[in-house]
Amino acid sequence: MRDIPAVLITGASTGIGATYAERFARRGHTLVLVARDAARMEALADRLRQETGVTIDILPADLTQAADLAKVEARLQEDSRIGILVNNAGTAIGGSFVDQSVEDMTRLVALNATALLRLSRAIAPRLAAAGEGAIVNIGSVVGVAPEFGMTVYGATKAFVQFLSQGLAQELGPKGVYVQAVLPATTRTEIWDHVGADVNTLSNVMEVGDLVDAALVGFDRREPVTIPPLHDAGQWDAFDGARKAMLGNIVNALPAERYRTPA
Ligand code: NAP
Repeated sequence: MRDIPAVLITGASTGIGATYAERFARRGHTLVLVARDAARMEALADRLRQETGVTIDILPADLTQAADLAKVEARLQEDSRIGILVNNAGTAIGGSFVDQSVEDMTRLVALNATALLRLSRAIAPRLAAAGEGAIVNIGSVVGVAPEFGMTVYGATKAFVQFLSQGLAQELGPKGVYVQAVLPATTRTEIWDHVGADVNTLSNVMEVGDLVDAALVGFDRREPVTIPPLHDAGQWDAFDGARKAMLGNIVNALPAERYRTPA
């Protein structure tokens, strides 16, 4: 791996992924951009090549399609220049659980969870063997908020968060940094896809602010970065309550409250 590793970013044609591409290009990283819209990525790459002089490859892929996903996995396995993976590609669907089609739900899980898992698995052995590198996974605050009414989307993001925290446990000691980034409402096209007008929403973060904050967390090697959460102590208390429970959740006998019939 070179001193400044190449970065593969999924969902790099627009929104948060395109902003990561711009920021990493300005830091001098070679880029590999992945999304479906090749023309959009070419336009971004042309601009960034001119402005920063970095090398940028375009790898068009629909990450819900097995052959395309395999192509990106192979690139992560074989291209030893790539030392950072940003698993950003993701989408959301509108409506409630009973209104959403099972096909839409399945595609959502395939993109937000399965593709992210498989790409992490593709690069992790190489990074662990090298003893360096990073995996950045874009989750969401919805993953800790079933109350927000985006159940399947939130479930995929809870998966992303758990996977990231588990991978940090496993890969951290091998020198690989894993970060979960949890944005809240951010001004991107994702809101068009759920049929919402972002201009009608409150507390919307600009995408540049979100990515710049996420990169502060990245540079600090934070395991979980939540740019919109102003009181970091609230996350620490939440995580602390979970950790405090760990010593008590494995017991041979059922709890006293379950030993008498309802
Ligand atoms: P966005 O503007 O809609 O961008 C999504 C990106 O993913 C695009 O580059 C899109 O490119 C790509 N993508 C979509 N389907 C794909 C597929 N099947 N295969 C490959 N690439 C695909 O959304 P965003 O807001 O930047 O979202 C980025 C990440 O942030 C997502 O994981 C999202 O869940 C998360 N997030 C966003 C918000 C928010 O409020 N914006 C909040 C919390 C979390 P193509 O269409 O060219 O494929």
